[in-house]
Amino acid sequence: MSPSPAKSDVTLIAERITNAVMEHRLPPGVKLAEERLAEAFKVSRTKIRHALTVLAKEGLVTLYPNRGAFVASPSTQDARDLFATRRLLEAEVVRSVIARATKADLRKLRAHITKESEARLANDRRAVIKLSGEFHMLLARIGGNRYISKLMDELCPLTCLIISLYDSPHTPACPEDEHIRIVEAIERQDEATATRLMLEHLQHVENELKLSPQDKVDIDWDRMFA
Ligand SMILES: [Zn+2]
Repeated sequence: MSPSPAKSDVTLIAERITNAVMEHRLPPGVKLAEERLAEAFKVSRTKIRHALTVLAKEGLVTLYPNRGAFVASPSTQDARDLFATRRLLEAEVVRSVIARATKADLRKLRAHITKESEARLANDRRAVIKLSGEFHMLLARIGGNRYISKLMDELCPLTCLIISLYDSPHTPACPEDEHIRIVEAIERQDEATATRLMLEHLQHVENELKLSPQDKVDIDWDRMFA
């Protein structure tokens, strides 16, 4: 553990790979070759290896002895288990947000919703997917339960991975307008409605999942992290 407040190279590399997964630029099952990543990030292979170990602990990367690291490819059972877990956690998130959110927190939520709408209007699918995931991480942070927040920081990127694996290519990660309705219920302090809307929302996202194989994606390793 680094005591320094500045993020280490390893943390930054792990974050950027996570972002690439959240934006569906790195599809499930793709090999993460150390030498290629070391070139793209202009760092040593040791740092890349450490970053991949961090991501493996979070479930986003799978390490195979003698074969190397691959973007994880969760099964359909994993997908169902993940959504079941999120329904448990996020009902509590909504309750704690209603109990603890300040006016500034509510403004942050509104600002996030605005960014999501702008990305939708601009047809920026990558941004929509990433912002959709980040909405849930933001709610968890505002909820203030750091154990749940830590879990959500891990589960949201995994959800994006599952969506890129099992969703139809043109469905956005979170159905439009559902986030705003959750935020409105939170602003009204209407716990019953906010919790119900969140559970329905997660069910809708899960219902979009399909078992169709996914299209091949061309990956430009050097430009992705430039
Ligand atoms: Zn959502």
